[in-house]
Amino acid sequence: MHNSTPLIATIATGLVLAFAFGIIANKLRISPLIGYLLAGVIVGPYTPGYIADQGLSHEISEIGVMLLMFGVGLHFSLKDLLSVKNIAIPGALVQIGVATLMGLGLSVWLGWSIGTGIVFGLALSVASTVVLLRALEERNLVDTQRGRIAVGWLIVEDIVMVLALVLLPALAGALGGDAATSAGMTDIAMTLGLTLLKVSAFVAIMLIFGRRFIPWLLEKTAATGSRELFTLAVLAIALGVAYGSSTLFGVSFALGAFFAGMILNESELSHEAAEDSLPLRDAFAVLFFVSVGMLFNPAVLLESPLAVLATVFIIVVGKSLAAYLIVIAFGRSRSTALTVSASLAQIGEFSFILATLGISLGLLNDEARDLILAGAILSILLNPLMFLLGKSLAKESSARPESKAGGEESLMKPAGHTVLVGYGRVGHRVTHGFTEGNALVVIEFNPERAEEIRSAGLQVVHGNATRQDVLESAAIGSAKTLLIAIPNAFEAGHVVSLARQLNPGIDIIARASSDEEVAHLEKNGADLVIMGEHEIAAGMYSRAQLPSTSVPT
Ligand code: AMP
Repeated sequence: MHNSTPLIATIATGLVLAFAFGIIANKLRISPLIGYLLAGVIVGPYTPGYIADQGLSHEISEIGVMLLMFGVGLHFSLKDLLSVKNIAIPGALVQIGVATLMGLGLSVWLGWSIGTGIVFGLALSVASTVVLLRALEERNLVDTQRGRIAVGWLIVEDIVMVLALVLLPALAGALGGDAATSAGMTDIAMTLGLTLLKVSAFVAIMLIFGRRFIPWLLEKTAATGSRELFTLAVLAIALGVAYGSSTLFGVSFALGAFFAGMILNESELSHEAAEDSLPLRDAFAVLFFVSVGMLFNPAVLLESPLAVLATVFIIVVGKSLAAYLIVIAFGRSRSTALTVSASLAQIGEFSFILATLGISLGLLNDEARDLILAGAILSILLNPLMFLLGKSLAKESSARPESKAGGEESLMKPAGHTVLVGYGRVGHRVTHGFTEGNALVVIEFNPERAEEIRSAGLQVVHGNATRQDVLESAAIGSAKTLLIAIPNAFEAGHVVSLARQLNPGIDIIARASSDEEVAHLEKNGADLVIMGEHEIAAGMYSRAQLPSTSVPT
């Protein structure tokens, strides 16, 4: 049956299995990514049973790449991008050089040719967009300076790969590949020049015309008042620009989508555009991991364990070390260096594309491809551990209490105080009411916000309030009141029930934006839930000079 509908079969089995294994991973308290990858291995050609269409699943996962990069662009202004260029350009180039040399070294050790070694090394040098962005998002780092460095770095890698992909066919002869595709120096220079010209033309057109036309288009659509058309406009812009620019200018889908997002960044509507593309983006990003799992041949682990180990070592240790040293050499902090190197210590989609091209040009052998795929899956699996390692090396345990006035002592045993979760649109307004420094402890997981709170002279615990150790660092056990000012009601519900366990008598006041959320939070044990919409109605009502007490609920 599925033979006649391969696209539906691939999407449906991919999503169903990813969901099932994701749930199991969640129950086992490991990253859901591992579940998604495993789902891919199961529908892949190397395990018995149903085999999904590899070509289709790869294409589907590219949509995930586009939507993710579009989302990142929405958070990025041109200024942000330019502000990290001094470190991202040399950083990415040096790291690519180091990784390629190491890959070449391994290749020589395995008895392969220099040409194979160069392609193999290049494939190990580029990080996966999806893995990097997921990792930064999970840790709320996309909008931080170190997150921006990592994304800028990724974009430089992306451009280098675009060049490598067009140059390889021209260079194949010289590198020892198929002679039929060989080219002279002038041809190579021409290809390089033409590609650079096309990339520059793309950037110029986007910045000059796209910047005016695309936000205008979105605003006009918003003015129609149709939610459906607005969502459609967002998707049409993201996928249309990505596909169109890759067809016309030869840039990657990721780069095209990133620019589409970036030129919308200044638009008032970028926030809504981001939210609209979220569910689709998440679904396709999951399919990306399934498609990676499908490529993996577990037999390679038994056939050449040492070579696999060496490949993983280059990706995870070699590349990280190079990135770490470069970031430090540029005078950035250790924690920035650790975040950047952890986020780049993996490989993914670009490596597969390079490997496929290498094989078709006669430059890569099957063993090299299997090593690249094994390196990808293992480095993706190890990636969360790299972040953990980075965090403990930075001695920046998320639960460490910190305060501006005199270090941690003052926070060790506050009592009868208020704990505030989240220093955003609601939370920062709440803090205005607290004049006495000791009476309030803020929990915030965004590192830059935490720094801001600290410089405002408030006590802060940097970490996620859904974690028990974080709540304990804010001395929740002896606190009088807990104010939960975060927008996500699921997380807030979790914080409420955890806090209730740790301090049964605490007064918990939470924030909600719908009646369902109010009910959910109350069920979890909140004493008072304040709904934004209700307060806005009350404000409007009282402004209309009617007694605010009679606001209907
Ligand atoms: P806003 O969306 O403007 O209301 O801001 C919410 C703030 O709460 C942001 O600064 C987030 O970084 C922060 N935040 C959200 N969830 C958590 C959490 N689970 N733990 C700590 N801080 C959080």
